[in-house]
Amino acid sequence: MTTATRQPVRTPGNPRGLRDLPFPVAPAAPADKRRARAILAALRERYPDARCALTYSSPHELLIATILSAQTTDANVNRATPALFARFPTPEDYARATPDEIEPYVRSLGFFRNKARAVHESMREIVERFGGEVPRTMDDLLTLRGVARKTANVVLGNAFGVNDGFVVDTHIERLSKRFGLAPEDSSVAEVERRLCALFRRDAWTDLSHMLIAHGRAVCKARGWTCANDPICRRFCVNARGPGRS
Ligand code: SF4
Repeated sequence: MTTATRQPVRTPGNPRGLRDLPFPVAPAAPADKRRARAILAALRERYPDARCALTYSSPHELLIATILSAQTTDANVNRATPALFARFPTPEDYARATPDEIEPYVRSLGFFRNKARAVHESMREIVERFGGEVPRTMDDLLTLRGVARKTANVVLGNAFGVNDGFVVDTHIERLSKRFGLAPEDSSVAEVERRLCALFRRDAWTDLSHMLIAHGRAVCKARGWTCANDPICRRFCVNARGPGRS
């Protein structure tokens, strides 16, 4: 897998290294940033090995797995992709195939016709416009079929070590609001901007995995186990008990 990283450009006039982002990031209050640092430290201690749960061995496999993960679980995707990746080893193989030929491999994942078409089209575009290499910029990734900001952030952060935004999936949106990092009525785009403002840029990808890990382990979308967990007691607006800040 390619792991070349790009460091955020920090200069005296741009100390936070955020000027290249395509949206304004309002500065966060010092107290909010201190609390964000405490949340990051607590999550890092609890989930030191949190990482992308999708199985892949190259940037194009990660892109495909992320496209396929819409409306289903990473575990379901990981069950389907070994056969898919074995049948189509390179972007050229998907480009040469028809969506009909891809469909049987993704049928178990729901919306399989749309997903097969998105995989075929995105790989065809990668072959025709990007020389067979997954592009490394947000702007280029967003031109591919089936790729929106969340997918692009996953690929940039995990395949290339580039933090050009913050992945906001259902777990991260929910926890951001419950931890008081973003107002309850924030849109996904507003949650992303708020997280970018609160946390160090070089932590964005790792933190996304930690938040997802906490969401999966403790704060389920339904039937959460409120107030029994030390991180929840300390940081969640829903929790009650000693030690909450
Ligand atoms: S206290 Fe409950 S709602 Fe809050 S993060 Fe923990 S499990 Fe989720």
